[in-house]
Amino acid sequence: MPTGETLDVVVVGGGQAGLAAGYYLRRSGADFVILDREESPGGAWQHFWESLRMFSPAEHSMLPGWWMPAQEGEPFPTADHVVDYLTAYERRYGLPVRRPVHVREVRPHGNLLAVVTDAGTWHARHVVSATGTWRAPHVPPYPGRDSFAGQQPHTVDYRKPAEFSGQRVLVVGGGNSAAQILAEVSQWAETTWVTRRPPRLLPEDVDGRALFDIATRQAAARREGLHDRGTADLGDIVQTPPVRAARDRGVLRAEPMFDRLTPHGAEWPDDRFREFDAVIWCTGFRPVLDHLSPLGVADEAGRVTTDGTRCRTEPRLHLLGYGNWTGFASATLIGAGRTAKAAVGQIASR
Ligand code: FAD
Repeated sequence: MPTGETLDVVVVGGGQAGLAAGYYLRRSGADFVILDREESPGGAWQHFWESLRMFSPAEHSMLPGWWMPAQEGEPFPTADHVVDYLTAYERRYGLPVRRPVHVREVRPHGNLLAVVTDAGTWHARHVVSATGTWRAPHVPPYPGRDSFAGQQPHTVDYRKPAEFSGQRVLVVGGGNSAAQILAEVSQWAETTWVTRRPPRLLPEDVDGRALFDIATRQAAARREGLHDRGTADLGDIVQTPPVRAARDRGVLRAEPMFDRLTPHGAEWPDDRFREFDAVIWCTGFRPVLDHLSPLGVADEAGRVTTDGTRCRTEPRLHLLGYGNWTGFASATLIGAGRTAKAAVGQIASR
């Protein structure tokens, strides 16, 4: 339970971004706590689907201070391996994580911030919000969606392909989740893949490691106004072995988006109609920011304007993870440390 004392920092969220903040806070000598609503360590990684593999090798994945150990027989580690790593990481650095603690809201309290939770209220000079996106799945509002009679899981609901055995399945979305789910569902079901724009498959030799390096160079070039979008982007599809196999089987053929869903299928603008038993929405996520609503910092689209990680209208608040808007690649394992270091540096300087 909260002690009533005032802390320097409360970190909301104990996934990789929260732990990266913890590493630097520990080194800065700050008094802090990390509050996480999960029952156990690992953040969103403990909820990913069964076959998920990282798109970069372990030796290119790290939080500050400690490279992820290799996983025997798995060049691209499983989600369980990442959970084991994050579990060991917080122990290794003695990070003060409290679980399960659900932060309901963060609100002003004199010159402090009050962090109101289901386990009491903490007071802090600064709050770092690192609540990720997994708990805010996004499904675009297509006409007829409510009328569709079959199941409509989102990426967050998907567990394994056998659940779609023998069905006609529509997979929606042009990113890595869609490609990986399509790759395995297509072995159990008849699949159709639709994307808003043609999907970009990276060359075979570009895995997450090379992708990160290319995207880092491009982000730096874009900042200097040099060019727009080049040969690779962090959202492009990495050809993991199952994705490559699906490509070779000819199932990675994307079609344009449908116009509307009907009770038993989908209709395209050219009057084509196809029947489906299920639609899998691999259509992304939004930042989980509801706990910040008393601060009034988010715009209508649910985004917070930041200078780096610091909230422009509430400088006692920092945001980590979520996406490139809080720091380049800050929602990846390899990128989380850099933005966490910058955030803690700013906090310490105040
Ligand atoms: P999370 O892991 O979601 O952690 C946030 C934590 O905050 C959670 O424990 C959550 O329960 C908690 N929380 C939320 N709200 C509250 C609250 N109100 N109070 C208290 N706690 C709260 N990245 C890579 O680098 N390599 C990959 O191969 C890779 N693969 C990915 C595959 C998929 C399918 C997805 C979705 C992402 C992948 N990522 C990958 C991106 C990224 O690494 C993960 O999304 C990662 O989980 C983000 O970490 P995070 O700490 O920002 O958020």
